[in-house]
Amino acid sequence: MEKHELVIIGAGPAGMSAAIYGRRAGLDVLVLERGVAGGQINNTDEIENYPGVSHATGSELGEMLKNHALKFETEIRRVDDSKVEIRGDKKIVITKKGKETIEIEAEAIIVATGAHFKRLGCEGEAELIGQGVSFCATCDGAFFEGYDVAVVGGGNTAVEEGNYLTKFASKVYIIHRRDEFRADRSAIAQALANPKIEPIYNTVVEKIEGNGMVENLVIKNVRTGEVSNLPVAGVFMFVGQEPDDECVRGLVKAEKGGWIITNDHMETSVEGIFAAGDVRSKYLRQVITAASDGAVAAMAASSYINEQLHLRSTLLEPDEVMAFFYSSIDEAQVKLSNAVESVAKSKGVKVTMIDGYRNARMTEKLGLSDKLPAIAEIRKGVVEKVTTLKNEADIDGALA
Ligand SMILES: Cc1cc2nc3c(=O)[nH]c(=O)nc-3n(C[C@H](O)[C@H](O)[C@H](O)COP(=O)(O)OP(=O)(O)OC[C@H]3O[C@@H](n4cnc5c(N)ncnc54)[C@H](O)[C@@H]3O)c2cc1C
Repeated sequence: MEKHELVIIGAGPAGMSAAIYGRRAGLDVLVLERGVAGGQINNTDEIENYPGVSHATGSELGEMLKNHALKFETEIRRVDDSKVEIRGDKKIVITKKGKETIEIEAEAIIVATGAHFKRLGCEGEAELIGQGVSFCATCDGAFFEGYDVAVVGGGNTAVEEGNYLTKFASKVYIIHRRDEFRADRSAIAQALANPKIEPIYNTVVEKIEGNGMVENLVIKNVRTGEVSNLPVAGVFMFVGQEPDDECVRGLVKAEKGGWIITNDHMETSVEGIFAAGDVRSKYLRQVITAASDGAVAAMAASSYINEQLHLRSTLLEPDEVMAFFYSSIDEAQVKLSNAVESVAKSKGVKVTMIDGYRNARMTEKLGLSDKLPAIAEIRKGVVEKVTTLKNEADIDGALA
């Protein structure tokens, strides 16, 4: 089976940043991508809030991120899809490309699969996707040169992309169900100063009508209940996001909606699986936070991999090992560890010292978490005898 130290799923800002940090940490990294490297930013024409890059189109920034990862000889592999499975204590990524299925074993996995815009769910939407219903202004805006269009939503993306669409459309209605937009003040000010933009507040879209192409929106004022028609040639949906979490759905803990829960090391609930970027449960979903998550995840994965390799070679692979497990945050246990070391030295016995606090996963795996401080005799990875030490007087007997 193909093996890599670190497999990163997703080549957006989080995945690319993880690849850069992973490669610089000397890891063997494989990135899997089912779309276009750069991720969601390919859908926008304007990035102005990534520090150091005062202006770039999304595809320019995506290309820069990809080239940066390639500079460190990252392998970026195009796949149709990928999924993670745990088999025993092995982590397997199953990729599909055409009819080919490849299984890859990874020491650690970073899930950096991002998110996508939600559908509105109103009548006519599904039928008219690609025929005037769009989720990407950069991709489709130019088709609406000289036409009136609508944007649905009130957050940053809706307001900024609405502004962008005025490059092409003769008029852009921004339909929002509340009485004011939720976007940044500067984005709102810019949009409202644009004569081509007309906000329609307190309003929802009930139906999208058109014969083969969008022609009309049936909209409803949620305050007055009044229903009216809004003739437009296109409608862009920016009404929130959903995570692209399918590759680990049901495997790692997630909050409602599927956003993956991690700690601040980007560790998920499954050992060796990390998550970074928009797919994670977090406060702010932007390029800068995705890139930051990717860097943290890669460094945490690197330390996890090194810890696993070290523990495997010192504890699990030798024929026989005597190891002392203690907790470095317990002063008495640290003192005891010094005593164990000196008694072992005087007796000529080799004892491997394992900080069970820092190596909690391995300690738990060996069934020793609740037995610290303890001397364990391990034969070919199997714990054969455990002696919990109450005090220094127990050391001599345990090492006999
Ligand atoms: C229209 C728009 C405008 C935006 N404007 C800005 C802006 O101005 N500034 C800003 O900072 N942010 C902006 N953002 C947000 C920014 O793009 C995201 O926060 C950022 O891209 C998240 O990065 P990510 O790596 O977590 O995920 P993504 O960019 O979503 O990348 C995830 C990648 O994973 C791939 N993938 C998913 N599932 C799989 C799988 N199973 N197997 C293989 N590959 C998979 C996807 O194809 C994708 O390429 C904008 C987003 C949009 C859509």
